[in-house]
Amino acid sequence: MTDKDRTSQTRPWYRRPSPLTKGCHIALIGGGIAGLCTALALQKAGYRVTVFDREPHPMAQASGNPVGILDPYLVLGQGADGAFYHQALIHALAFYAALDPDIMVTQGLTKFPVSPPDKQKFQKIIAQETWPQDFMRAAPEGRLDFPICGALSPPKIRDILSDRLSIRCGITISQLDHDRHWTLTDSDQTQYEADAIIICGGPASRHFVQTQHLPLEPVRGQITYLDPEKMADVPSQVLCGRGYLIPPVEVEDRMIMITGASFDRKEISLDIRDSDHQENMANAASLWPLVEGQTIIGGRCALRAYSPDHLPLCGPLPDAGQYQTAYNQLKHGPRHQEFDPAPYQPGLYMVSGLGARGFMSAPLLGDMMSSLISGAPLPLSTPLYESLHPARFLIRNLIRGL
Ligand SMILES: Cc1cc2nc3c(=O)[nH]c(=O)nc-3n(C[C@H](O)[C@H](O)[C@H](O)COP(=O)(O)OP(=O)(O)OC[C@H]3O[C@@H](n4cnc5c(N)ncnc54)[C@H](O)[C@@H]3O)c2cc1C
Repeated sequence: MTDKDRTSQTRPWYRRPSPLTKGCHIALIGGGIAGLCTALALQKAGYRVTVFDREPHPMAQASGNPVGILDPYLVLGQGADGAFYHQALIHALAFYAALDPDIMVTQGLTKFPVSPPDKQKFQKIIAQETWPQDFMRAAPEGRLDFPICGALSPPKIRDILSDRLSIRCGITISQLDHDRHWTLTDSDQTQYEADAIIICGGPASRHFVQTQHLPLEPVRGQITYLDPEKMADVPSQVLCGRGYLIPPVEVEDRMIMITGASFDRKEISLDIRDSDHQENMANAASLWPLVEGQTIIGGRCALRAYSPDHLPLCGPLPDAGQYQTAYNQLKHGPRHQEFDPAPYQPGLYMVSGLGARGFMSAPLLGDMMSSLISGAPLPLSTPLYESLHPARFLIRNLIRGL
């Protein structure tokens, strides 16, 4: 089957699940940006939603940075990652503007090429004309300007969405059982009922029997805070290259600048490290030399969740054992009419693996999940839906005969 055919037809192992009746109760595990955007979309579509989070307040882990950037993902060619993040960025800008125009705290972002091949890539991207003129402009020294991108305030998003959603904090869900309905059991053995569950737990999303087979890995990241009062001059927009530097923003009644973010695979400790601060400072100085020698006034560390292909996992969760049986013959070629439709775990879904761009992807993923559950047309193409499907790694292994 060609990519063109696939635009209209979902392959059986990625079939859309049966829609859920409006008004039924959906529990979301995880109150980060993924869980809150998904809950909001489902609530708008007519479902009753409850978000559970183990922290004392929502958006306290990866989504808890004082400022986040919307940084365009630039790639050449027609790959799923470029197409997804392009659509996600446009969707996110519209979503946050509609939620509250004050969510964007800095307007304007400049991307620096970090190597000669990068410079060539930027030139080709301009030539490709993928982005409209008012969105991307060539700037001096091979840089690219994105006037309507910039930095946003996660605390503002948290406050707005907390007012609109039912969120139960301080509850760690440790077990999920299905028997007509779902039962969620927390660490105190208290039980909660739901018709369906969406797991939005960041790197902890695979801590359930039902999700252990998913290839999600934690990647540690640390950001560094600087005092803009001590600098002779500060940038007026976000600078991105090797790392990023955010212009002064007000955080808890004081102005700070933020630079980041370090990237450590398979690291799960959350201690603040001097070595990470130094790495962030060196990267920031390559973007704005006046950063050199500045005093560090704080920082924050959290874990991102990554999938092997760096795209999120968004969709119904496969029954791994039944997939092995149903699609064992895929190694002989995807002759798709001969295969049964996907055996899913009933009423169990995931939105996770948002990597380093969760604020960009969460609004589109939330809308996609809501469309999937309600049976509405998806906000993205069939190939992109399939590229995000949580069963894709199982299927790729089966095709390879693994
Ligand atoms: C240092 C750093 C800088 C970043 N900078 C940016 C940026 O500038 N722009 C950008 O777009 N992205 C950025 N990211 C990435 C972005 O923060 C993430 O992609 C995004 O926050 C992921 O959201 P999430 O909801 O999937 O995960 P999280 O925010 O981690 O939320 C998961 C939630 O699930 C809860 N949870 C997990 N398991 C359970 C359980 N069993 N029971 C109850 N609750 C549970 C956790 O308490 C947590 O609140 C950065 C990440 C880091 C670490």
